[in-house]
Amino acid sequence: EFARSKTIREQREYLPAFAVRNQLMQIIRDNAIVVVVGQTGSGKTTQLAQYLHEDGYSRYGLIGCTQPRRVAAMSVAKRVSEEMDVTLGQEVGYTIRFEDCTSDATLIKYMTAGVLLRETLTEPDLDRYSCLIMDEAHERTLDTDVLLGLLKRLVARRRDLKVIVTSATLNAERFASFFGTVPTFTIPGRTFPVDILFSKSPCPDYVDSAVKQALSIHLSHPTDAGDILVFMTGQEDIEVTCQVLADRLDQLDHGDGSVPALAILPIYSQLPADLQAKIFERATGKARKCIVATNIAETSLTVDGIMFVIDAGYCKLKVYNPRIGMDSLQVTPVSQANADQRAGRAGRTGPGTCYRLYTEQAYRNEMFPSTVPEIQRTNLANVILLLKSLGVVNLLDFDFMDAPGDETIRSAMYQLWTLGALDNLGALTSPGRQMVEYPLDPALCKMLLTAHELGCTAEVVTIVSMLSIPSVFYRPKERLAESDAAREKFYVPESDHLTLLHVYNLWRANGSRDSWCTKHFVHPKAMHKAHEVRTQLVDIMRSQRVPHRTCGTDWDVVRKCICSAYFHQAARQKGLGDYVNCRTGLPCHLHPTSALYGLGFTPDYLVYHELVMTTKEYMQCVTAVDPYWLAEMGPMFFSVKETNWGHREARLRTQREQQGMQAQLR
Ligand code: ADP
Ligand code: MG
Repeated sequence: EFARSKTIREQREYLPAFAVRNQLMQIIRDNAIVVVVGQTGSGKTTQLAQYLHEDGYSRYGLIGCTQPRRVAAMSVAKRVSEEMDVTLGQEVGYTIRFEDCTSDATLIKYMTAGVLLRETLTEPDLDRYSCLIMDEAHERTLDTDVLLGLLKRLVARRRDLKVIVTSATLNAERFASFFGTVPTFTIPGRTFPVDILFSKSPCPDYVDSAVKQALSIHLSHPTDAGDILVFMTGQEDIEVTCQVLADRLDQLDHGDGSVPALAILPIYSQLPADLQAKIFERATGKARKCIVATNIAETSLTVDGIMFVIDAGYCKLKVYNPRIGMDSLQVTPVSQANADQRAGRAGRTGPGTCYRLYTEQAYRNEMFPSTVPEIQRTNLANVILLLKSLGVVNLLDFDFMDAPGDETIRSAMYQLWTLGALDNLGALTSPGRQMVEYPLDPALCKMLLTAHELGCTAEVVTIVSMLSIPSVFYRPKERLAESDAAREKFYVPESDHLTLLHVYNLWRANGSRDSWCTKHFVHPKAMHKAHEVRTQLVDIMRSQRVPHRTCGTDWDVVRKCICSAYFHQAARQKGLGDYVNCRTGLPCHLHPTSALYGLGFTPDYLVYHELVMTTKEYMQCVTAVDPYWLAEMGPMFFSVKETNWGHREARLRTQREQQGMQAQLR
């Protein structure tokens, strides 16, 4: 009600940050670095940058504010532009990877931490900025952690820079002591008690339990008693939860027709921006909102009016698996700190209730006190490439708040070495230096570099762009067969990558028309996004003097480029559709939606873009390759063996041979 009845100014002045504005600004004036702690919703993200602007800091340079998530950067910039009554992209803007919504007029810039990291490459002193707010530092994402280390060095050089590190949790002393002794300022909170109810026994199906709980709340409390927020793991769970909830409501309504309206609103990072914005809008009529969210709603985004929280107790975490040599998203129990944050969402505007779909015993004995920082659990290849090009010779010398494990560093360096980005002594090579220019994973950079050599940059830049966006194929549940048939028409039978290329080319040939997309079950927005990404990559290539060349219809050479990026993710067929990773021997399966099923037979060797773990390990996006290419592109791993009947096999080199190759490559 508050947001509806009060003016924006009244809303701003009601926030806890406003009550302490003067003390806070004084402490910032007196110190180069300040750690600001405040509960979620106290105004750190939306107000701090405005206060700095109002106090005149924007006269000396940009006020930058980094966010761990793209969604938050966009949504918060939009909110602040509304609060300041300016057009988004003018005085207030945002930049996320592949999307720059700022202009010369911009004074306050929200961005992902990754964007600022890349800016340090061209502007190590970040001279454009007068203030930098490292927001949501408690999330401890990889990019934030690296930035913290870089900023610590930077403030020693730039006395005029203001750095503000914000955290929603109380273990902020970690940040303060990391920077030496810097002051911590706490914004006094205004919270209401939250009743926490645990599940009596472990629940076998959290989607089902969450739906039941949401229905029971909805039916037993009047709609004006407050909205519901459900925490799920990721997009799939969220979609299923929303669907089942809608179905059950429908059934109930058919029964007696008097079920009050419920607006079911999903929120996750891949959701289109206009749908994301819906969670902040008032529901039509007198409907209650039921928001089904990932942990994005834990601290990044604050929705007012939540009285009931349902916490499934899990989240998706990116975890590096040294056994398979790559990151994968794993569903993991949340930490106690996350669980407490989630519960806190119910007590912002009045007393609330949090339903935990796990037992008190699980909370106490099975959950970590806090989440392991990302830097200690994910692939570091990008970070290493970046730090090396910033002149950090020995990574062990870099001042990390929590240093990554030796094993993770070594394995990322090894991966970079196999891609030719590092030499035998661990120094950046000339291809490695070129790779840093692209905001892409090293493997995709490698694909572009090989395309330059083989004369097919036009094709490969399209593939890389298509891989940088979520799936372009639209599969509505009620029209599965029809949409699958439509997708099959695009199949290039030897490659899912080439299929993506084919879709893009057809879309362009058909005037990039949305009507064409709809007809063929392709997401028009995703296609436009891919086109934007492609335009930006082509610009970078031009600045690198990489010629734009097409190979015409000979797409074998494109497959060779694909092979050069992914030879470390090569698989050999064991049975129909069943493969094993050539290097690790671990099983991996061809996904039922792969174009390779259109070949009539499944190829002996292929490379894959990524593994997804669902019921089995599925290879996502694969391309058939020749064993000769594996030996040519990944000589440190493979040689070719001719067996009887002229059959060719890619033979994995022995450990000793691999070491020998290493010496030769020197
Ligand atoms: P913090 O960063 O301390 O968690 P924020 O600055 O994000 O707090 O939020 C302050 C207030 O602004 C909250 O009441 C929140 O609901 C509101 N707010 C933030 N973003 C939006 C938005 N996009 N639409 C409407 N209200 C918003
Ligand atoms: Mg915030």
